Amino acid sequence: MTDDTQSGSEREVSEGRNQTQVLEVEGLGHSFGDVDVFSDLSFSLAEGTVTALVGPNGSGKTTLLRAVLGLLDPDEGRVEIERSPDSGRRIGYLPQSPAFRPAFTVEETLQFYADLLEKEVDVSAVLDRVGLSQVPDRRVDALSGGMTRLLGVGQAILGDPGLVVLDEPTGDLDPRMTEYVFDVVADLADDGMGILLATHNLTGAGEADDVLLLDHGDVVMSGSPADFVARTEAEDFRGAFLELTGGEEGAVSIGGADREGEAVGETDADGAADSAAPSAGVQAPGGDDE
Ligand code: ADP
Repeated sequence: MTDDTQSGSEREVSEGRNQTQVLEVEGLGHSFGDVDVFSDLSFSLAEGTVTALVGPNGSGKTTLLRAVLGLLDPDEGRVEIERSPDSGRRIGYLPQSPAFRPAFTVEETLQFYADLLEKEVDVSAVLDRVGLSQVPDRRVDALSGGMTRLLGVGQAILGDPGLVVLDEPTGDLDPRMTEYVFDVVADLADDGMGILLATHNLTGAGEADDVLLLDHGDVVMSGSPADFVARTEAEDFRGAFLELTGGEEGAVSIGGADREGEAVGETDADGAADSAAPSAGVQAPGGDDE
């Protein structure tokens, strides 16, 4: 992975190409009773790019994802999702806590979901893409939290949807597995998928092509990680985020693992199992087998 301040703008897919927009959100507004979650929210997401949705708890990330997924009918605005020409599936989704049938193996799980799609799917290729190709026969109830999340990513990309929505794909994962999941996500974007992910992980968000920062229902800022840095006194995306959301103390609700250290609220309950994952079959990038 590359430096926080540069990686988003460095991705070659972002530059100089006429990219198809896989998602267009225009004038979105929604309230729950007296709670205005957001209003007049607009953004678009191009194929082959990653947009990270960041913001403190309660800032509206889940509500926005639900509107994009069509699980919530927003009060105002519209959501348009392009169907890529060679794909039968418009949108893939990884929920925050994916749950699978415990007695199924990894491969059976993906095959089960693949059989629901119109298009034929090469399940072993999907296992390969998410780094689970060495554990196809492992039962789901024997997977670490990180491997379960990778299986969830595999489920989300079955059928090659143009748009993939990932809700906290690295929540509760240890730093090594977190980095691995973000590498998988970057590879998926390099293969052409448009990825919208909600995350508390500032290192991962700093590697996205675009970041949408929500706070109390307002879009505080959107742009590349480098734009965030340029707008503030900070030296990197993490610093820019903290400056824009009120500093370390102001951001007490921002949790999640960070590669430089432990951010507030990090839990490593999953850590031991995930640290063991590569030797148990998940191939870390670059052949790192530790
Ligand atoms: P985030 O995902 O960023 O934590 P949410 O989208 O879950 O934020 O919530 C945004 C705001 O909307 C919060 O104030 C939350 O309490 C409120 N909210 C979310 N869902 C509901 C609901 N079903 N009914 C009432 N209020 C809700």
